[in-house]
Amino acid sequence: MTILSKTGQSWKIWIMFAALLLSQASIIYGQMNLDTLPKDFYFLFVAGGAISTFMVFIAACVSIKCPSCGLKWFWSAVSGQESKKWLFWLLSLKSCPRCGEPKDG
Ligand SMILES: [Zn+2]
Repeated sequence: MTILSKTGQSWKIWIMFAALLLSQASIIYGQMNLDTLPKDFYFLFVAGGAISTFMVFIAACVSIKCPSCGLKWFWSAVSGQESKKWLFWLLSLKSCPRCGEPKDG
């Protein structure tokens, strides 16, 4: 069991993935229909997708953290790990890198 499911935060990861997927889909949809969409709609899809990607990322950075010491695990993963490995690092985290929470197995 990973630390995210132990602390009941794995749903945040899945919500984040779903939201990011929707945001990217919105950007791609906007770009694919560049010629047919009214300009306002194009802007809505692309800018909306970019903004929500950013918001979701910030929300994940702020909300996925250690319940004991408050270390922001998601942010630590993104900022401290190699770009290809951070997600694996986060998902395979068994205990908090700062305080060792949760201490039981
Ligand atoms: Zn901690």
